[in-house]
Amino acid sequence: MAKKRLRAIMFGPPGSGKGTQGQLLADRFDVPHVSTGELFRAEIAGKSAQGKMLKKYVEAGALVPDELTNAVVTNQLKRMDLRKGFVLDGYPRNVEQATHLNRVVKINIAVQLRVADVEAVRRLVGRVQCVDCEQVYHKTDSPPIKPGMCALCGGNLIKRNDDTKNLIRKRLETFHFMTEPLVSYYRQKGVLLTINGEQAIPYVFEEIMKKTAKLGFKS
Ligand code: AMP
Repeated sequence: MAKKRLRAIMFGPPGSGKGTQGQLLADRFDVPHVSTGELFRAEIAGKSAQGKMLKKYVEAGALVPDELTNAVVTNQLKRMDLRKGFVLDGYPRNVEQATHLNRVVKINIAVQLRVADVEAVRRLVGRVQCVDCEQVYHKTDSPPIKPGMCALCGGNLIKRNDDTKNLIRKRLETFHFMTEPLVSYYRQKGVLLTINGEQAIPYVFEEIMKKTAKLGFKS
């Protein structure tokens, strides 16, 4: 019997570990990992016309309008062989985007990472990230070996512009208001996996793997 290919999305509040767990999941199933946050930051850094448009939303901690977001994601998906599977991280972020995605491709796993606001704030306030490879560190939980330097690629570690207290609060509000309704959207579709995102990274991943295996996905 043909192997069931993973077509997953990851959602959760900022600081819930979507990027880390999304990458682990994609590596384990050997499928591409597509992060809208990363795509947007690359466009902004490249100072393209689209990057200039994206910048004002990302820097305000607001969602990029659906039309623009859907266009960027659809464009990316068109370049991939969707039958081989993928992990989408940070998309969809509201029901309108989920409805759009459902017209393009059917998702078979929606991973919801649950993390309380206080823990998300603690993580984001202490987070630094590599400018080159986006590897994430935390000043107390997972400090870099050499301060300010990425242990993987030697790049500089910086704080993300949107990891300020004000913007973190705003992004969390946006999450609760706009993104949380995805819980019932994907539950109704029978593909929701709710994961305790407050555990240490390997335990979160173990829970994801156990629950995906129960749905018949073998890595
Ligand atoms: P992230 O790296 O996932 O935290 O995303 C960083 C920022 O990119 C968000 O705060 C939004 O401004 C924007 N963004 C990422 N994904 C989406 C999306 N699916 N819809 C709208 N805006 C998004």
